[in-house]
Amino acid sequence: MDASELLQLDRPQQKDLDRCVHCGLCLNACPTYRENGLEMDSPRGRIYQMNLVAGGAEIGPSYLEHIELCLACRACETACPSGVQYGRLMEAARAEIEQRVHRPWTVRLARSVVFGWLLPSRTGLRMAAGMLWAYRKLGIQALVRSVGLLRLFGKLGELEQLAPDAELPTFFSQYGKVFPAEGGRRYRVALLGGCIANISFARLNEATVRVLQKNGCEVTVPDGQTCCGALHMHSGIRDQARELARQNIAALMQGNYDAIITNAAGCGSTLKEYGELLEHDNGSAAAAQEFSRKVKDVTEFLASMELTPPRGKLNVKVTYQDSCHLAHGQKVKAAPRQLLRAIPGLQLKEMMAADICCGSAGIYNVVQNEMSMAVLEKKMANVNRTGAAVIATANPGCMLQLRAGACLHGDGQRVAHVVELLDEAYRA
Ligand code: SF4
Ligand code: SF4
Repeated sequence: MDASELLQLDRPQQKDLDRCVHCGLCLNACPTYRENGLEMDSPRGRIYQMNLVAGGAEIGPSYLEHIELCLACRACETACPSGVQYGRLMEAARAEIEQRVHRPWTVRLARSVVFGWLLPSRTGLRMAAGMLWAYRKLGIQALVRSVGLLRLFGKLGELEQLAPDAELPTFFSQYGKVFPAEGGRRYRVALLGGCIANISFARLNEATVRVLQKNGCEVTVPDGQTCCGALHMHSGIRDQARELARQNIAALMQGNYDAIITNAAGCGSTLKEYGELLEHDNGSAAAAQEFSRKVKDVTEFLASMELTPPRGKLNVKVTYQDSCHLAHGQKVKAAPRQLLRAIPGLQLKEMMAADICCGSAGIYNVVQNEMSMAVLEKKMANVNRTGAAVIATANPGCMLQLRAGACLHGDGQRVAHVVELLDEAYRA
């Protein structure tokens, strides 16, 4: 298949658009529609606009605004009785925008640095970790805040509270290592370390390794793996996402593992779609299908086996926030709850609308900060009503957003990944 044919396929396909029968049953599931009540910011309205563009309408500022305001949370996909694959449509719509819209040079430069260099580069991420660490730990953050410097940057200054911490040592030091199973090997698995997770969620990755070991898994962290490409996909940069997919397939399929494990729901959703992403690539299509079949979210994998019972007690009330790309992207809702209920002493208190997005959505909280913060405020009201001291979730991006939410609108709740709580119960 040549490049121009591929470009055509990277646009919303009419057969996919035609599945929408305009019933509106998805509207109430949509966080942006719930927030502003605008049909054009509902799934049905966005599909209508995609149809206009597919019919030859130009891509104007209004189209860009409504498409970019979508969280790509895929709650509408779960609600839709017609089987509209909204996530696929949105990614294709953004890929088409990427092909046809000429962005200002500053935006192009920023996107090329972040997507083309930083996310796939261990060197770049290590440098970012060093800068983050220095900012937080050498008193620069305190100084910047005390003199009110952030106010000079307006909205941009508010984003500072969403910035992750660097956790040193980073997880990069574990690449190429094999961690033996405890109590007899039942499985051989590969762990995907992620990109930003290696510097900001290094302790989560370590906890994931320990919990897998405890459950009879020999865990390899294969060298050669890279960023999964989820953020590229959500931003319409599909060529780079395909490159990253090929690199991951080459690095992770070598070991003939029983499963490829991720603890990041956003990554898992994309990894499970490599088969689709590379379906027209003759050289990689079959391997991509096989790769996607092996990918498991860590909660899904642990819940599918006979879990080593945790002995330690965690006497704490916990509420669980569904990560959109686990609940709607991967249809995994029961597994994380099952693991939480297996922890002695832990009381799981469900919040209202747990499967509605928290407003994180990759880099959405940075590029669409106002809507993201409005969605977060509603989320935190539901969290606060539970009286839980801990918010558990299954995705690092959601953890960052909920940490900001707990500071801004909450009671200082702790935010933890399900696997971190399980690890604590094993170690208690
Ligand atoms: S993906 Fe989420 S924000 Fe976008 S239309 Fe669907 S429900 Fe609304
Ligand atoms: S996306 Fe599905 S639920 Fe929403 S209007 Fe179309 S058919 Fe109805």
